[in-house]
Amino acid sequence: MQALHFDNFFVRELPGDPHSGSQRRQVNGALFSRVDPTPVSTPRLLAHSAEVAALLGISDADIASAQFAQVFAGNALLPGMQPYAANYGGHQFGHWAGQLGDGRAITLGESINAAGQRWELQLKGAGPTPYSRTADGRAVLRSSVREFLCSEAMFHLGVPTTRALSLIGTGEQVMRDMFYDGHAKAEPGAIVCRVAPSFIRFGNFELPTSRNDIALLQQLIDFTIYRDFPEISCGSKSTEQQRGDWFAQVCERTALMVAHWMRVGFVHGVMNTDNMSILGLTIDYGPYGWIDDYDPDWTPNTTDAQGRRYRFGQQPQVAYWNLTKLAQALFPAFDSPDPLQAGLQRYADMYARLDRDNIARKLGLAECRDDDMALMSSLQALLHSAEVDMTLFFRALADVNLQTPSLAPLRGAFYDEAKMQRAEVGFSDWLMRYSARVNGDDLSSEQRQSRMTAANPRYVLRNYLAQQAINRAEQGDVGGIHELLDVMRQPYIDQPGCEQHGQRRPDWARDRAGCSMLSCSS
Ligand code: AMP
Ligand code: MG
Repeated sequence: MQALHFDNFFVRELPGDPHSGSQRRQVNGALFSRVDPTPVSTPRLLAHSAEVAALLGISDADIASAQFAQVFAGNALLPGMQPYAANYGGHQFGHWAGQLGDGRAITLGESINAAGQRWELQLKGAGPTPYSRTADGRAVLRSSVREFLCSEAMFHLGVPTTRALSLIGTGEQVMRDMFYDGHAKAEPGAIVCRVAPSFIRFGNFELPTSRNDIALLQQLIDFTIYRDFPEISCGSKSTEQQRGDWFAQVCERTALMVAHWMRVGFVHGVMNTDNMSILGLTIDYGPYGWIDDYDPDWTPNTTDAQGRRYRFGQQPQVAYWNLTKLAQALFPAFDSPDPLQAGLQRYADMYARLDRDNIARKLGLAECRDDDMALMSSLQALLHSAEVDMTLFFRALADVNLQTPSLAPLRGAFYDEAKMQRAEVGFSDWLMRYSARVNGDDLSSEQRQSRMTAANPRYVLRNYLAQQAINRAEQGDVGGIHELLDVMRQPYIDQPGCEQHGQRRPDWARDRAGCSMLSCSS
């Protein structure tokens, strides 16, 4: 891995904790703590992303080497790596939670690739840090498979996301009480190497402000603009104007990310402010889920089952709430609240525009007119009440012959025969409306279809598919992970032979753990 060159800007420029080691502590006046990964007994490479390896300049020979598994399990460091855990806070489920920090994530360094791009390499599950609180700093195989696969699936779907280089089995067991019912059991451990230009979160800014450490806040803002927003920066100290432009950028990127989630049916599940990336990347894949039958009230997270704060349909509002928390944290670095207000407004405007874009793209229209908002919401109401698969329905809608509209091509998207029969009239009426609208549109039917197939994926990482790959991996067979990784590379293209990856969730998976709802235990 001679190609990896490190330029560890974060630890070089910003104040760190004077103490090292993983003893749990409150860390004041510092943005990170130096801590090494804790070695594991028998690391084994289970899967890797060829695309991410190429991005970093890691060759096939490197990946096949014994050194690769050692390094990305945290057993060995490459020259230039300077491991650390970041210090941040956050609002969890609407409440300020104080210092959280990287409890099991350890950044190895900021690698600079041949094109000059900066990619931070971060191990998740690499052992305790000062921020591990009462937990062990480790991760289980099931959650690591989910993070590894979903990062890459999201990237190929065109959704802004952190990436994943590798998935490594540690050869060690981790104790987890998966259902929080007092029955902890040993599960295989694993480590994912995540990759992103930056892992800075909203919570990194919230923590210094909560401690009234405004100098530290200002330092972090200047650093972030300088390193991660070069299009705004023109020096290592920011101006009020630049800080305002930056916040507006964060708002826009967040709107874009959430609009993509809504388009593909992704539910993050834990949109706490410590899980919101300052770059607008999907980050921290935990109890996330994918919509099977269209239900805006669905949350995959068992911890969220009561309040459903993080339900699918509420994600745009939650992102806005999180941005208001970020704005409050940034306020001490501004002379006036106006740029922050303007940024929040930018989010609202941008999301409204992207929501309309989604409608136009998903329905194959040249543009979204005012009436089309109602056309989409009546479709969504039908999909919800008749229990219809979101992904299959939109994909098949492109195949409906709008000269003689019929429900036939859509039948495969329904989960319940009786509900389908009851909804038949409603859908037929809707198809008539849709057909009339399409006939009055400027696009040819080929254009409409290609617009739709580019926006409505054929394959998404359905919860039960990931769970099947996990079950196999827990038995020592990683084939399911590789198959899914492969299919998810081209989610908008029909892939012959991959039909089983693009079907309705089977009945057995309806209420099964991991296939429907997930606990945070990971
Ligand atoms: P999450 O909501 O999963 O992003 O996690 C919230 C906080 O808990 C973060 O500070 C994590 O680093 C920490 N955390 C979660 N799981 C563990 C673990 N097994 N060991 C140490 N810290 C953890
Ligand atoms: Mg987190």
